[in-house]
Amino acid sequence: MICCTGLFLGLAFVQNTKQKGIDIAAIDKAVQPGADFYRFANGTWLKENPIPASESRWGSFNIVAERNNLVLREILESVANDKTATKGSAKDKVGTFYRLFLDEAKREKQGVSPAKADLDDINNLKNKNEIIPLIAKFHRKGIRSFFGFYIGQDLKNSTTYIPYISQGGLGLPDRDYYFKTDAKSQKTKEEYVKHVDEIAKLFGLGSAQFGQDILAFEMALAKPSMNRTERRNQEKQYNKRSYNQLVQAYPAIDFKTYFSEIKLSKFDSLIVSQPAFFEALNQMLTTQSLESIKAYLNWNVMNTSAGYLNSALEKQNFYFYSTVLTGTTEQKPLWKRGIAASNSIVGELLGQLFVEKTFTPESKKRVNAMVDDIVAAFKVRINGLTWMSNETKEKALVKLASFNRKFGYPDKWKDYSKLDIKDDSYLANQYRAAEFGFQDMINNLGNPIDRGRWGMLPQTVNAYYSPTLNEIVFPAAIMQPPFFDADADDAVNYGSIGAVIGHELTHGFDDQGAKYGADGNLKSWWTEEDKRLFEGKTKVLVNQFNNYYVSDSLHINGELTLGENIADLGGLTIAYEAYQMRLKKNAGTVINGFTPEQRFFIGFAQIWKNNVRPEALRQLILTDPHSPGEFRVLGTLSNMPQFYEAFGIKEGDKMHRNSADRADIW
Ligand SMILES: [Zn+2]
Repeated sequence: MICCTGLFLGLAFVQNTKQKGIDIAAIDKAVQPGADFYRFANGTWLKENPIPASESRWGSFNIVAERNNLVLREILESVANDKTATKGSAKDKVGTFYRLFLDEAKREKQGVSPAKADLDDINNLKNKNEIIPLIAKFHRKGIRSFFGFYIGQDLKNSTTYIPYISQGGLGLPDRDYYFKTDAKSQKTKEEYVKHVDEIAKLFGLGSAQFGQDILAFEMALAKPSMNRTERRNQEKQYNKRSYNQLVQAYPAIDFKTYFSEIKLSKFDSLIVSQPAFFEALNQMLTTQSLESIKAYLNWNVMNTSAGYLNSALEKQNFYFYSTVLTGTTEQKPLWKRGIAASNSIVGELLGQLFVEKTFTPESKKRVNAMVDDIVAAFKVRINGLTWMSNETKEKALVKLASFNRKFGYPDKWKDYSKLDIKDDSYLANQYRAAEFGFQDMINNLGNPIDRGRWGMLPQTVNAYYSPTLNEIVFPAAIMQPPFFDADADDAVNYGSIGAVIGHELTHGFDDQGAKYGADGNLKSWWTEEDKRLFEGKTKVLVNQFNNYYVSDSLHINGELTLGENIADLGGLTIAYEAYQMRLKKNAGTVINGFTPEQRFFIGFAQIWKNNVRPEALRQLILTDPHSPGEFRVLGTLSNMPQFYEAFGIKEGDKMHRNSADRADIW
C-alpha cells in the first residue's frame, strides 16, 4: 500500500518484565558513554544474547514478539481444537486455517499439485495475445509477474482513489542486486541462478540453461527499474495518464484487456509510477519469444508458490531467501510459521481474538494523553525554530494540529465474509486470500476514502504514519508493558514510547512527509527560502550517515535512510522537550546512579539493542529505509546537545561533533 511505504518505524522494545525503568544489567560500564553510547547502554546484553539459529537478528523487538507469539499460539491452538465454532465465524475461519497449516503430511502428499493448474495455463498459451489475460489472472491471486497494480489514495487529490501501475517482476530484493559488481553481489547472483534451477528441478521443470535465462530476463526488467533510493521521490513517480493515453502508449502490454480481466470498470486516469519501466516492458513483450516469456511465467508461479508447498520446496525457498540472503540457518518451528501464515491470510480475524485477550482501554487513554504531551512539545519546538519563517511555521502548526490518531485496533473490523477458508490446500487458501484482498481493493475505486482502515495488524509490534491520511497509528501490541508501562519511571516512557510518538509525528515533516499538506495532498506549503534551508539541513544528515561504514565496502545509504533519520532525531528531540516539561511538574531523582536525563537517553538506546548476522545487515543496508539500530543511536545522539550535557560529552570523544557539524532540524 502506498500510505506507509518506507515510513514504518521498524520499532523495537525494551525487555523489562521484572524491573521498572532502564535495564541496568544490559549496560557495559567498561565502555565510555562518549566513546560508543550504543555499547555503553547495551554492551553486556549484546555479549550475553547471541542470535538463535532460526533468526537473522535478535533484539528487544524479538523478545517482545516472542511473548506475543505465546499469546497467539494459545489462541490458535484453542480455536483449531474447537470444532463447535459457528461456521464462518472468526474462530471457525482461523481454526480451520491453522489446522490445515499444521497438516504437513497433507502438503507432502499434495506435492506440487496445488500449483499445477497455473503451470498448465502457461503451457497452453498459443500466442502472445493470450499472455496479458493470464498475467491479469495471476495478479488477482497474488502471483508476482512483470509489473504491479494497485488502487490507492490519489497523492494529489487525497479524497479519491486512483489506480497505480508500477515496476515489478523481480526475484531478488532490489534492482541494484542485479547490477552491483563486487564479489559478494556476484556470488549472490550465482546462488540465485542455482536456486532457480533447484526449484525448477523440484517442480519437475526447467532445462540446463533455465536459471541463467531467468536471471537474464529479470536483468532486462531490472535495468529500466528505479532503485529504492529513487523510489522515495513520489513527485517523480506521479505521472498521471488518461485511460486512452495509457492504452496507446504501451500497445504490446494491452492494458485494455488487462483491466477488463482484473474486473476493473472504466476509469478516467491512472498513475504510471515508472514510465521508463513500462516503455522497456512494452518493448520486451514485442521482442522476447513466446517460449522465453513462458519460462519466466513458469518461474513466477514456482517462486510465488514454493513457500506454500511440500517441505523440499519450502526448505529450498528458505535456503535462498533466508540462509543466503540473511544468514539464518534454521527454519522457525512449525507453530511460529503458522502464526506468520495466519497473520497473512486471516490477519484481522486473529487480531480480534488477540485484542480480546491483551488490550485494555486504559492503555489507549494513557498513550493518547502522552500524544497530547508530545504534540504540545512539538508546537513549542516549531514556534522556537530560528531558521523558519512565520509564514511556514503557521502552516506547519496547522498540519500538526490536524494529525488523526488511531490506537489499539480498528473501530470497524475488515469484513471477511467473502473469504472462504477451506480444507483443500495451503496454497489454495493463500490464493483465495490474495484474490479476496484484490477484489476488496478494486471495490474501492469510485468510493469515498475509507478512513477507518488500518495498514497494520493490532498484533504487530510497530507503529506508522500515513502522509495521505495525515495520521499516526499505534497497534495494541505496542501499548503494553514494558514498552509503555504506567508503573515505570517516566524516563523510560519518554525515551521509548515518547520517542516513538515523536518519530511518527516527525514523519509528517521529514524530507518526504513535509511535501504533503494537512489535507494529505502532495503539494508544497513551504516558502521557497524555507524549503532551501530545510534541504540544506537535511543534507547534513545524509553526509553523516553516508560516512557510517559497517565494513570496508559497505556504508549506510544516507539518502535511502534520510526520512527515518530525520524522524529519529526530531522524535527524540521532541520527546526530550516533553520530558523536560514533565520534570517541571514532577521532579525526577537520581536512580541507580543516573540522573533523569541520563536515564532518558539510556532508555532510548536500549530500544535499539540488537545483534544482526552480517548477511542480514548487508540486506538491511541495501533495502531498508531504516538505519541499523546501532546507528539510529549513534547518529541521533551525536547531534543532540542535550545528550552532550547529560553525559558530559566533550571534544575528543568519539561521539562528539563540533556544533557547526551537527544536524539540527526540528
Ligand atoms: Zn519511521
